[in-house]
Amino acid sequence: MTTRILVTGGAGFIGSHYVRTLLGPAGPGELAVTVLDALTYAGNPANLDEVRDHPRLAFVKGDICDGELVNELLAEHDEVVHFAAESHVDRSILGATDFIRTNVLGTQTLLDAALRHEVGRFVHVSTDEVYGSIDTGSWPETDPLSPNSPYAASKASSDLIALAQHRTHGLDVRVTRCSNNYGHHQFPEKVIPLFITNLLDGRKVPLYGDGGNVRDWLHIDDHVQGIELVRTNGRPGEVYNIGGGTELTNKELTALLLEACGADWDTSVEYVTDRKGHDRRYSVDCRKARTELGYEPRKDFATGLAETVRWYRENRAWWEPLKERAAL
Ligand code: NAD
Repeated sequence: MTTRILVTGGAGFIGSHYVRTLLGPAGPGELAVTVLDALTYAGNPANLDEVRDHPRLAFVKGDICDGELVNELLAEHDEVVHFAAESHVDRSILGATDFIRTNVLGTQTLLDAALRHEVGRFVHVSTDEVYGSIDTGSWPETDPLSPNSPYAASKASSDLIALAQHRTHGLDVRVTRCSNNYGHHQFPEKVIPLFITNLLDGRKVPLYGDGGNVRDWLHIDDHVQGIELVRTNGRPGEVYNIGGGTELTNKELTALLLEACGADWDTSVEYVTDRKGHDRRYSVDCRKARTELGYEPRKDFATGLAETVRWYRENRAWWEPLKERAAL
């Protein structure tokens, strides 16, 4: 029997890669996918070009906060993989209303409809940012949530609401918390594509504070692998951390990007005032996903980064209009 999956935010960076992977030649088959996406500034139908004519793909332009629409859609779907969100920390610092609306209210709207229609599985895609900041060591899934930015707080709220639907009503909810994703098709406001595209244009890159903030980098292929493992083999009501295994300071990352783009530090790097409340370090402990699900990040960072730089070099037509529109 064909499993009908509603993928929210499937026109964004990670959601579109998930859909392309599910419907691609190595996908599991026996699946029909409906993408529900509001096409905000970050949503781009071109991200789905590769699978646009796939007979088992449907696209619905709509808002996850629209209870009537969500209710209608969930009556016809077996599972939900929920990516839709306002996702950029810097924007949440300028104004958090859209973050609370989409990330909190939108998630609750989906969960309510999922419960009403007895949806089989609900994978809620979250972030390591919900744990806060950690100087040494790594967070296991049992660590308390201590989010700092409005974005992280909105995601932490939605995690708790999702888990509450499991504990209160028995809905099969699974939560993933991943580290920083990178790869092709990422909106060029996020640090890796912003720096690459600036460098390709001979512009400077803005480095926050002292450049010492540490992030763990996860290639989208590995993230999609992790989400699929959680969807197919994870346990209801459980949280799974998904990391990439490459920790770098922003300074180290910048040096690698400069090298890949043939630019040098002195002419291309501009230190700028630090992001307000900038978390110093994120680090997830992925032992649970490893031991329970066999999750293992496979993409070597040097290879993944070189492929990403090449993609942006070869796909100016994709990112130039986005940067112009967003005045980046
Ligand atoms: P993205 O910003 O590239 O895409 C978000 C998508 O959601 C867009 O297509 C947008 O149009 C859609 N959307 C926004 N509001 C909507 C609404 N109200 N109704 C319907 N659709 C709406 O984000 P991304 O980087 O692909 O992130 C996907 C998910 O992964 C998010 O939940 C994010 O919090 C999480 N996440 C991302 C990262 C990362 O490094 N990018 C890291 C950890 C977690």
